[in-house]
Amino acid sequence: MNWQTRDIAPGLYLVATPLGHARDITLRALDLLASVDVLAAEDTRSLRRLMDIHAVPLGNRPLVAYHEHNADRARPKLMKALEAGQSVLYASEAGTPLISDPGFDLMRAALAAEVPCTAAPGPTAAVAALTLSGLPSDRFLFAGFLPNSSGKRKTALSELAGVPATLIFYESPKRLGKMLRDAAEVLGAGRDAVVCRELTKKFEERCGGTLGDLSRKYLETAPKGEIVVLIDRGAAEEADPDVLDAALVDALSHMSVKDAARDVATTFGIPRREAYQRAMALAKN
Ligand code: SAM
Repeated sequence: MNWQTRDIAPGLYLVATPLGHARDITLRALDLLASVDVLAAEDTRSLRRLMDIHAVPLGNRPLVAYHEHNADRARPKLMKALEAGQSVLYASEAGTPLISDPGFDLMRAALAAEVPCTAAPGPTAAVAALTLSGLPSDRFLFAGFLPNSSGKRKTALSELAGVPATLIFYESPKRLGKMLRDAAEVLGAGRDAVVCRELTKKFEERCGGTLGDLSRKYLETAPKGEIVVLIDRGAAEEADPDVLDAALVDALSHMSVKDAARDVATTFGIPRREAYQRAMALAKN
């Protein structure tokens, strides 16, 4: 049985598709695939395959290629359809459009033309990897792909060294060992990290350890498949008591003692109880 069509309002629909497992598609994504006027995809063959798996007919609707090499030529056609009041869906090859994938300029053009835009959310490798990593998920920073050259990569890593959040990178299997080696050098070989490989696919794997251990492992044998690297936040440096007090006083000017202590404790990586006791003392004064 074919997937049913539905009435779809005009506008741009940014639709997430599975990372590997075809059944990770959402019901809403299937509704949109079946019903929009125009489909656009980073890789039209992958989208056709996904639609075939789920028995979504293309019919005589246009399926337009939109990728980094033809975006400037394809965008005006899609904008014309949107401005004529049609519904247009955009999907990247896998995961969420715009996340290290094309779609940003299309989205900006649609916003500038005051076309209604909406996202049909779904898989993205960064978040799937974070949930599987076992590293703190309360704060994270997605940094996409690091530069190719070792020098630029080390500079980018050093800019992230003090960020009090789990760092998430996309990486190619060929470069993984060198990236981990540079990360160990810049961030410290003892820092915890996790490599997630082939998420939602047959050879899915999670490998945790220190940056030193992981870089040795992957320099020796380059893995195959798609990779996400996650790096734990660094151990908090001894916080300067004056800087800590200033942050607490600032937070107390617009927050309760409890909220101020929680916020400052997270920022400085210190125990919440310690921040709370200091905040109480400052609040009394
Ligand atoms: N838009 C996608 C998303 O939402 O995750 C990312 C596209 S980016 C061009 C491709 C990179 O995402 C891969 O090189 C890899 O780092 C990561 N990735 C995609 N699928 C993955 C998977 N199944 N397992 C691990 N990493 C994956």
